[in-house]
Amino acid sequence: MSFAKLGINLNLVKKIEEQGWATPTPIQEKAIPIALGGQDLIGIAQTGTGKTGAFLIPILHKLGYKALGLPRVLIFAPTKELAAQIGEHYEKLSLVEDIKSVVLVGGVGMKSQLDAVKLGVDVVISTPGRFMDLYRKGALDLKNVKTLVLDEADRLMDMGFMPQLRTLLEVIPIKRQNMLFSATFPEKVEQLSFEFLEFPVRIEEVAESTPAETISQFWYPVNSKRTKVNLLEYLLDDEERFNRVIVFVNTKENADYLFSFASRKLQGGAVIIHSNKSQSNRNNSLDAFEKGEKRILVTTNVSSRGLDIDSVSHVINFDVPIVVEDYVHRIGRTGRAYKVGEAISFVTKAEKMYIDRYSKKMKFELKELDFPKEVTKIEMPREELIEMEREIDRLKKQDDPSFQGAFHEKKKIFRPKAKPKSKVTPKNAPKNRGKR
Ligand code: AMP
Repeated sequence: MSFAKLGINLNLVKKIEEQGWATPTPIQEKAIPIALGGQDLIGIAQTGTGKTGAFLIPILHKLGYKALGLPRVLIFAPTKELAAQIGEHYEKLSLVEDIKSVVLVGGVGMKSQLDAVKLGVDVVISTPGRFMDLYRKGALDLKNVKTLVLDEADRLMDMGFMPQLRTLLEVIPIKRQNMLFSATFPEKVEQLSFEFLEFPVRIEEVAESTPAETISQFWYPVNSKRTKVNLLEYLLDDEERFNRVIVFVNTKENADYLFSFASRKLQGGAVIIHSNKSQSNRNNSLDAFEKGEKRILVTTNVSSRGLDIDSVSHVINFDVPIVVEDYVHRIGRTGRAYKVGEAISFVTKAEKMYIDRYSKKMKFELKELDFPKEVTKIEMPREELIEMEREIDRLKKQDDPSFQGAFHEKKKIFRPKAKPKSKVTPKNAPKNRGKR
C-alpha cells in the first residue's frame, strides 16, 4: 500500500515521503480512506502507531491550497507536549505556508497566542483549558469549523476536560467531521463518542490497548525503595545497552530524589520533567534528552503520553503505576515507530498485585528476571513496610470485599522471622526485634 493509492494528493505524498514515511502504517491505512470519505471515525490506536499521521494526512489533503484565516480544523490534545508534537508534525507536512496553524496551550502567556490567532489561522491545536480561555476572550471565530479531532481521548477524560469539551460542543457548527483517537476505550470514552460523533466507523489497529509487539516487558522482584535505587544504578552502569532511558516514578518527590541521584552517580547525564517544573524548563529537558545530550529522563505520568522520542532503549518503571492505562502509555514511550524496546518494572510485593492485574486484563506477558546477585538488597524501613501492607490489604479487599485485612489481624508482620540474609545497615535494622 502507498499513500498515493490511498488517494492522497501527490504533493502531500512527497511531503510525507520527505519525513521518511514510505508506506502508511496499519492505522493510517485504515483511517485515511474513512477520513477522506467524510465519515466520523473512532481510532483505537496505541501510541507509536502513527496515529497523528492518520488524522493529519487526510486533514492536510482536505485543507487544499487556499487559506481562509479562520479556524477550519480544531485538534484537542490532553497535554502541552502532545499538542506541541502535533503542531510540529503539522508544520512538517504542511503544503502551503499561508495555511497557518497555531498551538494554544497553558503555561505560557496568552498575548502571543492572541496575536497569532489575530493574524489568521486555519488549524488550531490546543489543550481544552487554554482553548476555552481564549474563546471566552472572543479571540476565536468558530463558525467555519469543519473538522474536530480529539486525540488521546481517554487521557482527556482522565484529566477532567469533559466540561470544557461540552461547552465546545455548544459553540461549534453541528455539521462537521469528527475523529476521536484513544489508546484505550473505557466507558467514559464511549460516552464521549456518543456525545460528539455521528455514526462513527470504529477502527482498531490491534486488540484494545495492547502494547506494541516491539516492546519486551520484564520485571524484577524488589524488596524496598532503596534496593530499587541500587538496582537502577547497577543496570544503568551498562551505558551501551541502556543508552536512552526514561525512568518513570509515581511522585514528584521520587522524581526529584532520583534526578539528583542520577545526576550525581550515573554517567551520561539526567534531566527531569514533572508538573512542578516550568514550561521552559520542561522544554529544555526534553530537548536535551531528545538530542542525546542527556542519557536519562526521570519523570512522572505527565510524560507517559504524547512524548515521541526516537529510539528510547528502555522504559524503567521505578514505581509501578496504579492504573493500567498509565502502564500501557509509559511503556509505549519505547518500541516506537516499529523499533524494538524494553520496558522493565521494579516490583515490590504490593506492586506485584498491580502487575498481575495488568497482565491479566491486557493479556500481555511480563517476564520475571532474576534479581542480580551483585546488587545489595536493603530491607524496607518500618514505615514503608506498613504502607505496603496496608496497600496489599486494600487491593485484596477490592478483589474480595469479604477479605478482613491481614494487616490489622496479624501485627506480627513487623517482626522479621529470621535474620535477614541481605546486608542490613544499623539505620535500617528493625529496632524492636522480638519485643512484640
Ligand atoms: P504517533 O503514533 O503519531 O505518535 O507516531 C509515532 C511515530 O511514528 C512518530 O515518530 C512518527 O514520525 C512515526 N510515523 C508516523 N507515520 C509513519 C509512517 N507512515 N512510516 C513510518 N513512521 C511513521
